[in-house]
Amino acid sequence: MDNKLMNKNNYSNLQKVVSLSSDDWELGLRYGVLDIVADEGQNGSFVDENGHDFYHMVSCSYLNLDRHPKVIMGIKTALDRYPQTNITCSRTRLISKILYDTEEELNEYFKAQVIVGSSCSAMSEGVLPLLASGVLTNNIKPKIIFDKLCHFSMNIIKPICADETNIVTCDHNDISFIENECKHNPVVVYVCDGAYSTGGVAKVKELLDLQNRYNLYVYYDDSHSLSVCGQDGYGYVREIHSEINDKTIIVFSMAKAFGAGAGGIAMLSKNSQMYKYIKRYAGPLLWSRPVSTATIGAIQGSLVVHKSNEFKVIQQRLKDNIAYFDSQIYTSQSGSEVPIRFVTLGESLLALEAAKTIYQKGFYVSPLFFPIVARGKAGLRMMINNRIPQEKFLEFCNVVKGVINAIS
Ligand SMILES: *Cc1c(COP(=O)(O)O)cnc(C)c1O
Repeated sequence: MDNKLMNKNNYSNLQKVVSLSSDDWELGLRYGVLDIVADEGQNGSFVDENGHDFYHMVSCSYLNLDRHPKVIMGIKTALDRYPQTNITCSRTRLISKILYDTEEELNEYFKAQVIVGSSCSAMSEGVLPLLASGVLTNNIKPKIIFDKLCHFSMNIIKPICADETNIVTCDHNDISFIENECKHNPVVVYVCDGAYSTGGVAKVKELLDLQNRYNLYVYYDDSHSLSVCGQDGYGYVREIHSEINDKTIIVFSMAKAFGAGAGGIAMLSKNSQMYKYIKRYAGPLLWSRPVSTATIGAIQGSLVVHKSNEFKVIQQRLKDNIAYFDSQIYTSQSGSEVPIRFVTLGESLLALEAAKTIYQKGFYVSPLFFPIVARGKAGLRMMINNRIPQEKFLEFCNVVKGVINAIS
């Protein structure tokens, strides 16, 4: 057989992923902790199809902005002014004034050059292949390093990048590996998350230091920390960069703490040379999916909240919740301002059983198992948020503490 035909699964093996994880999904279903259908309950709770009332700790809307009256009002105002779902054509032909104005507002707020797209994954799908091509790095093909724990939305682009240039996967946060590649290649791109969805953060200061010494570009997906980290909600990575340098791209989902329900942005340095190439060539940004009018309205509403005095209060409430959680339950993320906490329990069965017990007591947390985390490292992920009422949050911490203590 032709060798080329046999040489498959260099970067992903979905068949293997499915066969190794299907039993766990089925068990999760039997335990009633996956595919839950729920309706709005009272005081921020949900009610499932059996009438079971619960609070969830699985939403990435950490600040509860997706229900903020000003965000909802932003959507209504945008649709009243502009009663059209969106202009269904490439932004290189025609861009709505309302989207143009919103990007200008975002540029000013984040002191950067921003491009808005329909989602963060669409942004990565468009930008990573361009980076791999060398077009964004002065026409020198870079060596691309993907962090081993990169989010799925970036990993899935690996084969396309590998068709443009050499790529390699490094151990998580392996700065010395990255430095070594910098010593042996004229241009290196490191692709990573800012705040990781299963806990932990990138080594931004060390990467900045490498950027000062080598021709290193960094592509950060910092979806989980936008709005949450930094006093203006600039996110974990952007906060450490006093100004975005011209070798850094940060992408964010606007559907998480920012509360817009959809949308993704790429943040570049002001006057970035990359801007026009991304605008013209980043596939999914161009086709028929400019961000919808409703999302643009939500972005504008969320910006109003970000600029108000209330924003500090909202952020502080989350900080207080995080501090209380950390005072009760130790995790390897304790002390971090990113609101994700992950407790490793071991085999997936343990995680599913723990999630079931916690659910019965009125709280829903995510049981995570392979492929989201490594095999044998299953556990519970908790997304701390502002939606849950205070007294319920204290009760939640107590319940989780009891369940974890009973296991370990
Ligand atoms: C949620 C998430 C995404 C996906 O964002 P969308 O805007 O829904 O495409 C991408 N990256 C990371 C790190 C995420 O957590």
